[in-house]
Amino acid sequence: MLSRLTEKQRQWALIIFFSVVTLAVLGYRLYHSFLPTASTYIADKIPKEIYQSIGQSALEQLDETEFSDSELDVTTQDAIRTDFNQLINELNLDPDRFTLHMRHWEGQMNAFALMDGSIVITDALVNNLNAVLDSNAPHDSEQALNTQAIRAVLLHEIGHIEHNHLMEHTIRVSLFYISASLIFGDISVVSQILLEGSTMGLNIAYSRDLEVEADQYAADQLTKLYGSPAALIQALTVLYQESEQENKSEPDLHWLSTHPNLEARLEGIK
Ligand SMILES: [Zn+2]
Repeated sequence: MLSRLTEKQRQWALIIFFSVVTLAVLGYRLYHSFLPTASTYIADKIPKEIYQSIGQSALEQLDETEFSDSELDVTTQDAIRTDFNQLINELNLDPDRFTLHMRHWEGQMNAFALMDGSIVITDALVNNLNAVLDSNAPHDSEQALNTQAIRAVLLHEIGHIEHNHLMEHTIRVSLFYISASLIFGDISVVSQILLEGSTMGLNIAYSRDLEVEADQYAADQLTKLYGSPAALIQALTVLYQESEQENKSEPDLHWLSTHPNLEARLEGIK
């Protein structure tokens, strides 16, 4: 086709072609290398107090709008809390950095981390993990805890906190929209993205690499404790199976819908 063009047209075609390629390469570099590096740099400079206040107000807001007190019986709650503290201790993590919150959230299976180091785990998630233990290995105690699977989920969230994913992700997304809005001249998207759920940890769709990193963190710590990441594989498998069944009536399962699919995650762990 180029042969039918005049010399001048051919020059223009080449200029346009190379401009598009250059823009594509720059865009790719911006997204995959400049933004993550800049986000990490900025996130490190943000004072602790900001993390604290964003995390606290996010939880307050969620308590007002989405959550109610956990309906797990007190013995189970105590057992989970005790085991969480023990986990932090066994792994020599800083106990002041993490706080566990149990909440009821209309049957939704979910766990997520907030910027202040809070980790929220919902009743439905605990119940589903415990149910599989009950059916697979009958237990004397009424409050049998699937300790390892619960630890696996908590460790994934601890991984998000240790790697500072929530703040870095929020900054990364904001920088992306700021760059895009500067290019396209529409600044309104920036305020929208900052106000919406990304800072709350709830509606967040972390990018694939951050999820892989959190899974890898959990897998490494489980291997330290038990010699293998089997508990994470079990937890993921149970939750995905459960969500597939529940999806028929209720499609919105947050923890799972915001995480990459099971095969990809299992592949990442092995
Ligand atoms: Zn995650």
